[in-house]
Amino acid sequence: MSAGVRAGAGRRFHAKWAMLPGGLARDVVFEVSGGSFASVAAGQPAGGAARLPGIVLPGFANAHSHAFHRALRGRTHDGGGTFWTWRERMYAVAARLDPDSYLALARAAYAEMALAGVTSVGEFHYLHHGPGGVPYADPNAMAEALRAAAADAGVRLTLLDTCYLAGGLGADGHFAPAGEQRRFCDAGAGAWAKRVAALRDSPGMRVGAAIHSVRAVPRDAFGMVREAAGRRPLHVHLSEQPAENEACEAYYGRTPAGLLADAGVLGPAVTAVHATHLTGGDIAALGAARVTCCFCPTTERDLADGIGPARALADAGAPLSLGSDQHVVTDLLEEARALEMNERLSSGRRGRMRPAELHAALTAHASIGWPEAGALAAGARADLVAVRLDSPRTAGAAPEQAVLAATAADVDTVLVDGQPVVSGGRHRLGDVGALLRDAIAPLWANP
Ligand SMILES: [Zn+2]
Repeated sequence: MSAGVRAGAGRRFHAKWAMLPGGLARDVVFEVSGGSFASVAAGQPAGGAARLPGIVLPGFANAHSHAFHRALRGRTHDGGGTFWTWRERMYAVAARLDPDSYLALARAAYAEMALAGVTSVGEFHYLHHGPGGVPYADPNAMAEALRAAAADAGVRLTLLDTCYLAGGLGADGHFAPAGEQRRFCDAGAGAWAKRVAALRDSPGMRVGAAIHSVRAVPRDAFGMVREAAGRRPLHVHLSEQPAENEACEAYYGRTPAGLLADAGVLGPAVTAVHATHLTGGDIAALGAARVTCCFCPTTERDLADGIGPARALADAGAPLSLGSDQHVVTDLLEEARALEMNERLSSGRRGRMRPAELHAALTAHASIGWPEAGALAAGARADLVAVRLDSPRTAGAAPEQAVLAATAADVDTVLVDGQPVVSGGRHRLGDVGALLRDAIAPLWANP
């Protein structure tokens, strides 16, 4: 058991094992100064340093989240259904949320992420308007709720404010948004850009942008979103379901990736989320443009999306990242493991992703605008995750293969910017299960 790491306690930490940029190291001492590592040195005695259990990994980046989807866990399996019937349930939950209830739900969801070792989260934020699409008095009230939620939960937030203009795409073009979708929509790309321009970065939050998908944003709006994003991260849902590809081909005569490429959207600041149903040309285009591809395996299997071509994308030059997306599972170690396991199922071969590649995908903070995070190295933000190697799941595992055995339940200690957020497996906010229950139950109660 860890004795626990207290706020304000010693600024030196010792780990028997740690995953440094050069690989696994032993007897590592971390010195923290302000929010960064002043030094990280292997082969050192513990001395008076606080001892961390197990193996220490860099903080994890959850590159794709919709915080409010956490309310759907364990609520959508009766009757089976499809991605599209799941989406109807998601819309029903969205309809019940206001800035206060969203603050409570997102605080609990982000605290659960911290317990799983997440230190930065990319929030793909489209629930930005009130019922019927009416703006709140503060048009960014829902974004401010997310900012406060992340600060309370102790994780850094990238608010990927999402342009969402249409209800869907068919062979004849885009549909008008209907029903609950109106809450996701600004009056046009110009109105979206104006609202986003009023959002400010703060120490724990950076602002980025998103194109919801080629279903929800017509081609003539891409340029304005690209321009508004500037050098900030720009994310887009891409080819999650075959129906999106079929509609895009029918209307534009191109795949979604081809459409984005032709419009000049793709580049190294862009993340394509899912990237599940791709042609060889799509893979080459995404790789050549150094687009990060964000896999969300626990969501993609829950929604029967399919298995994306992770190995082929990486070989083409696309960095990979991971997201818990709809939070049917909040366990980034499971997402990382699934990258390899899905490749095994689709290829019939083992060892498709090297452990170093899984660690890189777990720590893709740069893809959500925090390039100074994600490494156990001097000068980096002082994020770390201590994963126990003495639990029923991990006992006996070789430290360098812990990522293939551990789960979120084995996370003992999490530092974010040098501050202890999780200690001894407990979040600083206390009982996260109770926070989740209290936030979610009212959303399912009869009105
Ligand atoms: Zn998503």
